[in-house]
Order: sequence, then structure tokens, then C-alpha cells
Amino acid sequence: MRGINLTIPGTARTPSTESVVAWFSSRIYLKEELVLVEPGRLFFWGTPRGIDDRLQQMLMPVFSHIPRHDHCERFALLHHARAIVKRCGFDGLADCSGHVKMYVSHFPCISCVAVICQFMRLFPAVRFELDYDNMWRTRFETGRQNASPDAAKIFDVMEGAVNGG
Ligand SMILES: [Zn+2]
Repeated sequence: MRGINLTIPGTARTPSTESVVAWFSSRIYLKEELVLVEPGRLFFWGTPRGIDDRLQQMLMPVFSHIPRHDHCERFALLHHARAIVKRCGFDGLADCSGHVKMYVSHFPCISCVAVICQFMRLFPAVRFELDYDNMWRTRFETGRQNASPDAAKIFDVMEGAVNGG
């Protein structure tokens, strides 16, 4: 039978570094010229490979009870900042405009709020749109009724909820 299976193990929906996911898209211009488009992709926990120290220092996490350098929000922003630097150089960052959009399946922790603020400072002319849900609510069916439309992308991937029948 075709349909969506909404019976999900509870552990899959508890917020943790490993279970929180970011959906990220962007459109970046350098001096009015389009240089980068990310139509939309998911970012998971970890750190992108081969990120140079300078970028790591530009998006510094905050240690609070546990290490938070590997949260999905920072992964997405490090990955994206590197892609922009490749095209514009470190000197061109302030000349970038456009927008980034990030939806996170669980509200950002203090470290990720700090990283987002640092990203906004690095790219003062790039509009940053942030949306998020609360996994303590969205882990229950009743809590999903008001979830962001972007949330479905994450539920499907993290929970294998789509039953292709
Ligand atoms: Zn975080």
C-alpha cells in the first residue's frame, strides 16, 4: 500500500548532534555578477574535509558542555564560505551580495547562533534567512502540523518515512 509511514522510532527524533539536519540554499553575487548558486541540499553533522585554518577561525564555535564544532549549521556555513572564497578570495567577501537560506530541524544552540552571526559579519551584504523547528515538538505527530514546509525534506531522509510501496 502506498503512503507515508509515520511510525518512527522515538530515538530518531530526539535532538542530538547526529540527528539535527540543516537544509541550505543560496544565491551569491560578486559585484552584481552571479558567482554561486546552491539550489538546496542537506547538511549533516561533522566538519567538511580540508577546510583551512583561516576559515575555521572565521567561524569559531563556542564550547558549552560539549564540543559544538561539528554541528550541521557550522558544516553548512563552512562548506559555503569555502565555496565563496574559492570564487571571490578572502578580500572579496565584503563585496558579495545575494541571500542564503537555512532551515534547521532543531533550534540552533548558542554556538551555532555565534557561528551564524560571524557568517553575517563576514558577508554584510548577503541576506541571511533562518528558519527552524523544535524537535521536542516535531518528534510527535501533533507537533508536526505547524512545522516548516522544509521540515518534510528532513523527516523523509532521517527517518526513511516515505513508504514507496
Ligand atoms: Zn549547534
